[in-house]
Amino acid sequence: MLRLCGGRLAARLGSLRACLPDPARGRARRISSCIDRSGSDAASLMTSAKRQGDYYILNGSKAFISGGGESDIYVVMCRTGGPGPKGISCLVIEKGTPGLSFGKKEKKVGWNSQPTRAVILEDCAVPVANRIGNEGQGFLIAMKGLNGGRINVASCSLGAAHASIMLARDHLSVRKQFGEPLANNQYLQFKLADMATRLVASRLMIRSAAVALQEEREDAVAFCSMAKLFTTDECFAICNQALQMHGGYGYLKDYAVQQYMRDSRVHQILEDEETEKTG
Ligand SMILES: Cc1cc2nc3c(=O)[nH]c(=O)nc-3n(C[C@H](O)[C@H](O)[C@H](O)COP(=O)(O)OP(=O)(O)OC[C@H]3O[C@@H](n4cnc5c(N)ncnc54)[C@H](O)[C@@H]3O)c2cc1C
Repeated sequence: MLRLCGGRLAARLGSLRACLPDPARGRARRISSCIDRSGSDAASLMTSAKRQGDYYILNGSKAFISGGGESDIYVVMCRTGGPGPKGISCLVIEKGTPGLSFGKKEKKVGWNSQPTRAVILEDCAVPVANRIGNEGQGFLIAMKGLNGGRINVASCSLGAAHASIMLARDHLSVRKQFGEPLANNQYLQFKLADMATRLVASRLMIRSAAVALQEEREDAVAFCSMAKLFTTDECFAICNQALQMHGGYGYLKDYAVQQYMRDSRVHQILEDEETEKTG
């Protein structure tokens, strides 16, 4: 079974399996998807892939790769043609391929169960047979994968926000101030109702986007982008408010709410709906 790190390329698994030298090893194989250190402007990526016979020779690096160094397989966007999105192709690289190496494990604010490293390619020879799609289709593949990736990231935010509301509700019930539980305070009740409303609105946005994607509707890209934008902002705000409701305890690592706040912050950065569509 294949397990995706980041989930960006779930839509391409069918073609990916065909490219893997040993697709059925009977154990989980982890995949990292690698765009480039170009970041938001994905179409400007620099990693080069020069054709030499039956191989591409790759040179370049990819910052911030989820699962980098731990994953078995790297799905790499690289430049086989001229500038712009049409010069980009998609190649599969197995861990252990000479010329593939990794940077140090990054120290992150959150998402600490997910190792993040740079992926470095130095004269890395990859068989032409490991290409997904045709030359020049890489950008299209990456953008298609982004739709599912956005739903994935938005759903992670939703889970963190839901859990944070539960924690805040429980804390307000047990913490007494001014002679009674904080849960009796009408201001905090209004706040909790507001958080719950935003949570449900986020959930509905994600479900609408998932349906649009499943039905392959034309508006799927817009729905996925809107769901990701709305949900990651709203859910981070919910986690942050839940932390606030814990007072000083919310700032202690003994209380789980701080982790939800830290983990959900990165969801606003990943799969950037504003900028990754450019090109
Ligand atoms: C923990 C973590 C895991 C990651 N995992 C992966 C992975 O597995 N694979 C992968 O390929 N990438 C991964 N990334 C990279 C991630 O996709 C990028 O960080 C993200 O796309 C933003 O790019 P950047 O960091 O270069 O920011 P920049 O592009 O430098 O942007 C900085 C800021 O400027 C804004 N900005 C940029 N251009 C514009 C514009 N034209 N108009 C308005 N605002 C703009 C951005 O929105 C952002 O707020 C990961 C990042 C992190 C932090």
